[in-house]
Amino acid sequence: MTQEKKLKSGPLAQDDKIYINKNNDLKRQLEEIKTRKAFLDFTDEDVAHLKELHALISNDTENIVKIFYNHILSFVETKSLITNDAMLDNLEKSLAAYFSTLTEGNYDLEYVSRRRRIGTTHHRIGLNSQWYIGAYSKYLTLLISKLSTVPNESSEHIKDMLTAITKIIFFDISVSVDTYIEAREAKIQRMSVQLSELNNIAVNLTNSMDVDNLLMEVMKGSVNLTGAYSSCITLYSPEKKSFHKYATYGLPDKFVEKMVFRVGGLAESIFNDGRYIISSDRENCTHKLSKLTRDEGIKCFICLPLTSRTKQLGLLYLYRTDLDHFMIEEIETLITFSHLASGAIDNAQLHEDTLNLATTDGLTNLLNRRSGEEKLEHERARVLHCGSTTSLLMIDVDFFKKVNDKHGHLAGDCVLVELANIFTAQLRNIDIASRFGGEEFIVILPETPIEGALIVANRIRNVVENTPIKILDGSELNVTVSIGITMLDKTCNIDKKILIGQADQALYDAKNSGRNAVRVYKNNDKPSTP
Ligand code: GH3
Ligand code: MG
Ligand code: MG
Repeated sequence: MTQEKKLKSGPLAQDDKIYINKNNDLKRQLEEIKTRKAFLDFTDEDVAHLKELHALISNDTENIVKIFYNHILSFVETKSLITNDAMLDNLEKSLAAYFSTLTEGNYDLEYVSRRRRIGTTHHRIGLNSQWYIGAYSKYLTLLISKLSTVPNESSEHIKDMLTAITKIIFFDISVSVDTYIEAREAKIQRMSVQLSELNNIAVNLTNSMDVDNLLMEVMKGSVNLTGAYSSCITLYSPEKKSFHKYATYGLPDKFVEKMVFRVGGLAESIFNDGRYIISSDRENCTHKLSKLTRDEGIKCFICLPLTSRTKQLGLLYLYRTDLDHFMIEEIETLITFSHLASGAIDNAQLHEDTLNLATTDGLTNLLNRRSGEEKLEHERARVLHCGSTTSLLMIDVDFFKKVNDKHGHLAGDCVLVELANIFTAQLRNIDIASRFGGEEFIVILPETPIEGALIVANRIRNVVENTPIKILDGSELNVTVSIGITMLDKTCNIDKKILIGQADQALYDAKNSGRNAVRVYKNNDKPSTP
């Protein structure tokens, strides 16, 4: 299982970065506002006229906004951008607040910042400048018709008020158009950064053949490409029809321990549709967050399928704590990235499978004889170097020929598989079991003197004797094993073949003593018990 720690706080959302950079440059901004006003001949009299206008029309703002949105909804292009009533309600509220501040008389830094933020939000949801500028035209038209009905105002005065409102509207238009341009430039810049990041990652991925390392590269790469704070990959096994492995990056242990990946539900629909899903507590989001993710401070996550040309490989998750959404261009980059990652994972898995085939016994899944002997050679060199003691067991099934003769070869195979499982269950992680041939096995017990090896061997012998093994026809049979033990330490600088011969000799003694027995090679000069 791969897991790595990372700072908990996620990077800033891209849009926030723009604002913080801008706000760092207060002086420049104040200067810019002054220049814009000067260029428009925007005077204190204009401000006074706008405040006057504000008192006259403030009760009508809501009505103007309603008329304005009815207009918007009558156009197919803009109607399709407003997807539900809640969104319309929000837009109406923010537009009312917006029109209200237009005549309030405070055109300072805060006013401009708010304009910029509204512009960026509109840009993000796809309302382009045509729509935005159209808003002013509609507002102005409604305002003119409203002012023409106001009694007791001289036409000169009304003209002054209209001049003032025209100036502030053009002031706003210039700010908003600049905001649109900046947002677009920032988007292009982000895309070019992402593209070069994608390129770097692609090179790393294709170089990696180790599945665990590769998964880590994929998770790190996907986090770097987005504002995500952590990532997770779960791999799917078509044979087992389940998720058999997962790796996480940047998620705390207490969260990881409670994660469950089940086939069916969300995972299955992502596989079947081949599409990503986003989970958040946003009103319009159909996949709400779980309590576990919410408690972790996660505001949203995206889950993408990892699918190669022929296989469903797994799922890639990215979790965010800073925002409750992913930006469209981030999602597009992630989709491209997940295709690249899938190809690399598929290759690495193939490579791992080929290596496994060369080193593993196909029936029992233990190491094959060649790898077992290689491990023994390696262990012998280690013992000579470190001066520790390692024991070697040779295990042989008693009267196995009779099993085959009585129950058939396939039943015999079942017995061998079950015995391999028993050995693995009785051994430590550092012990190495291999199938030496037929119904013979060799086990290396590192850092284990004869006394310890005797305990392990007798435990294995005992468990085998007392474990009925189910064979293909459903019936159960009992087998026993005989075990020979030898040991290697820094004094025995002998060939591995001689070591195996010693264990074989001890095994022969065990067989001669009546089978279902454990014997130690006699020159090891250690007690030998049944
Ligand atoms: P002993 O107690 O003396 O070891 O008797 P045994 O019958 O186990 O020994 P023997 O060497 O006479 O027989 C070993 C048998 O193991 C013969 C062979 O057919 C069988 N065998 C070897 N490899 C496999 C295998 O992969 N599958 C099955 N089913 N049988 C195998
Ligand atoms: Mg045998
Ligand atoms: Mg044998």
